Amino acid sequence: MSDCIFCKIIEGEIPSTTIYENESVKVFKDIKPVAPVHLIIVPKMHIDDTEDINDDNKAAVAECLNAVKVAAKLAGVEKSGYRVISNCGKDGGQTVNHLHFHLIGGVKMREGLI
Ligand code: 5GP
Ligand code: ZN
Repeated sequence: MSDCIFCKIIEGEIPSTTIYENESVKVFKDIKPVAPVHLIIVPKMHIDDTEDINDDNKAAVAECLNAVKVAAKLAGVEKSGYRVISNCGKDGGQTVNHLHFHLIGGVKMREGLI
């Protein structure tokens, strides 16, 4: 999508610190990290959010989840643990409308969600 920040990052039009990528997924550092490790995992195919997942794009979503453990190992948090979050829509706090998974770690997080 032409006006999508993450599509521009995927295309290299906006710079990012890439940790890992393959043909269907890109993992890069969040520009405003909330923890010592804060990575964004995105499908290279534009999908708006979890409400936009369907039979035609679910393989790309599975690739994102498969990339979680790869990214965690590259960030060195595979043993200490981490949290994976995907915000959806207004109440979910989504600010970039390209499906993504936050991988957050490097610090002991509170139990519970909010
Ligand atoms: P959301 O709020 O949609 O769940 O998460 C969007 C995330 O993207 C935020 O944590 C924000 O800091 C990050 N972000 C927004 N713009 C950019 C950017 O241009 N580059 C990078 N690396 N991260 C971004
Ligand atoms: Zn996009």
